Amino acid sequence: MVSTIQLEQQKSIPLTNSVSHYQIVIVGGGAAGITTAAQLLRQQSNLDIAIIEPSQKHYYQPGWTLVGGGIAPIDQFIREEKDVIPQGAKWIQDYVTTLDPDRNCLTLAQGQTIEYDYLVLCPGIQIDWHLVKGLPEALGKGGVTSNYSKDYAPYTWETIKNFPGGTAIFTYPNTPIKCGGAPQKIMYMADDSFKQRAGVGINTKVMFCTAGTRMFGVPAYNATLEKVVQRRGITTNFQHNLKEIKADSKEAIFDVTTENGVEEVSIHYDMIHVSPPMSCPDFIKQSLLADEKGWVDVDKYTMQHNRYPNVFSLGDASSAPTSKTAASARKQTPIVVENLLSKMKSQPLMAKYDGYTCCPLITGYDSAIMAEFDYEKKVAPSFPLDPTKERYVMFLAKAYALPWIYWNRMLAGRAFEADVFQPLNQLVNRD
Ligand SMILES: Cc1cc2nc3c(=O)[nH]c(=O)nc-3n(C[C@H](O)[C@H](O)[C@H](O)COP(=O)(O)OP(=O)(O)OC[C@H]3O[C@@H](n4cnc5c(N)ncnc54)[C@H](O)[C@@H]3O)c2cc1C
Repeated sequence: MVSTIQLEQQKSIPLTNSVSHYQIVIVGGGAAGITTAAQLLRQQSNLDIAIIEPSQKHYYQPGWTLVGGGIAPIDQFIREEKDVIPQGAKWIQDYVTTLDPDRNCLTLAQGQTIEYDYLVLCPGIQIDWHLVKGLPEALGKGGVTSNYSKDYAPYTWETIKNFPGGTAIFTYPNTPIKCGGAPQKIMYMADDSFKQRAGVGINTKVMFCTAGTRMFGVPAYNATLEKVVQRRGITTNFQHNLKEIKADSKEAIFDVTTENGVEEVSIHYDMIHVSPPMSCPDFIKQSLLADEKGWVDVDKYTMQHNRYPNVFSLGDASSAPTSKTAASARKQTPIVVENLLSKMKSQPLMAKYDGYTCCPLITGYDSAIMAEFDYEKKVAPSFPLDPTKERYVMFLAKAYALPWIYWNRMLAGRAFEADVFQPLNQLVNRD
């Protein structure tokens, strides 16, 4: 939680000599930031927009699951950031370090002050590797890996394909994470790969160790996933929160919640895929814009800040209580765009986000469940098919159609044009 003292300290930003002003400032040039800028400029090309993004490269992170599963090389999911910045937007290549919403300005790592009329915050989620003792040092060797970093996703596949047999652990932490299905997707592909190689599957024990109490938060999809783990013979350890990796002895140490309290349990691993703890980026947590848990404090329907009406947020950093995915960002963007443009004209905010999200849950090399749902945890399918069923066509959608839609439609601000799901519909009609 952010203390009052911290908030007091953050309130005032010393003004530097270098001050720039933009009508709209977007913090973060990832999935949400680029899509928002593109859609705003498609609606009104004369808007004065700056995108603040430190990275030279833009990553399609859902592809990292495919890299870890040996389906695609990492290069396939990387583009130059300059090539995705929409025409008409200015790219400021720097980190935001402090936010001063009372003065409508922020500061950058290099000392510049940026003033805005309207602010859109979408800096994504922060990976807190350091919260698992021994993990930062252990990663990338000795069978310790994670698809939650572009640097280690290739090592996941190296580890899986060379696995000689033993205990393979897949973890899920006790914090919100991006793409809550990703820790399972890689487990099912790994299990397939082990079973395809003579002598490996039979000598391997696959374990899902999760801090949660079930496989998935949406009952309709949870029921299917329970059958998947049963069919595969995967051991499920619920209420197991990974707290330490002892790389020398190949031990994973968990805090396990039982009826008698929390006890420490050590499990030997031969490989371990870690889904690390995550939180909102520190510069948000330490600002006046954070809620009590550190996320950008927005109205979950309008995506407008609850206390600063000229501030909006979307994507992983917002407090909207839905699953943190690029699919959520895709659906949140038109809401933010419409409401921001209304706000600029002093009109009421009419657009409402219903919490839609989608997690294409790969359940093997030839199947996936397209898990679409909303705030009510009700299934919200885009296709006229039972969404709780595993299907080959949904695996193809995840592996091929969705990356195409991301690069060619979503980032261009055209995710809602009539042809956006054309490649998917063609696949579905063949199913
Ligand atoms: C392994 C994995 C699998 C996934 N699978 C799926 C999937 O199948 N389907 C799906 O829909 N989603 C999936 N996701 C989640 C998806 O990638 C994210 O939810 C999505 O990228 C969120 O968009 P965003 O713009 O909020 O954050 P991001 O896309 O992460 O962008 C945030 C940007 O903000 C920038 N930034 C950070 N700090 C600062 C700062 N201080 N100042 C300025 N800029 C800053 C970052 O450099 C980054 O470019 C997956 C993610 C991972 C890692």
